[in-house]
Amino acid sequence: MDKTVKLHDKTFRLCIEAEEIDRAVRRVAREINREMANERPLFLSVLNGAFMFTSDLLKEITVEGTTVAFVRLASYAGLSPTGEVKELLGLTEGIAGRSVVIVEDIVDTGSSLAYLLKVLEGHRPRRVKIAALFYKPAALTRDITVDYAGIALENDFVVGRGLDYDGLGRNLPDLYTLVS
Ligand code: 5GP
Ligand code: MG
Repeated sequence: MDKTVKLHDKTFRLCIEAEEIDRAVRRVAREINREMANERPLFLSVLNGAFMFTSDLLKEITVEGTTVAFVRLASYAGLSPTGEVKELLGLTEGIAGRSVVIVEDIVDTGSSLAYLLKVLEGHRPRRVKIAALFYKPAALTRDITVDYAGIALENDFVVGRGLDYDGLGRNLPDLYTLVS
């Protein structure tokens, strides 16, 4: 029988096991270790969802001068043309002149990243790269390149590995997809 979990009122089915995700994390880390070798990179983790990927990834990063900082993107329902106002919280680390690697749990439409990239640009980084554990190619509506990509997903809602459904499921080491 398929492994399922129930979170609040919804049922989720196992879709990617922890071991496969761990392998993807190690591959992403190797790519970053190679490309960022002389960059003294700043890893900018986007909370809350990226907390687990950040922890798993950073254990595999061997680049000298690596630092880590944490930010949060708050979304408000507002009167902007897109119906949404975003705000970047918690950026206290100096960005100017740094090679920044944004660490994201999942890239869906890309709108969060588009906003984050725009804000970071104003802080004059040397360059900005994007690492995402999961991405949904069919959902992307923005012109964004995920430089270090973990696993491509179908356009379905997933939980586990840091990702939640209304607060639940972040602690699951495997990835689960919504059934009903
Ligand atoms: P985007 O701005 O790319 O559309 O969405 C990015 C954010 O939406 C992610 O960082 C994540 O917090 C949330 N998100 C997108 N897809 C999923 C999903 O399938 N499951 C969960 N739990 N969150 C998602
Ligand atoms: Mg996120």
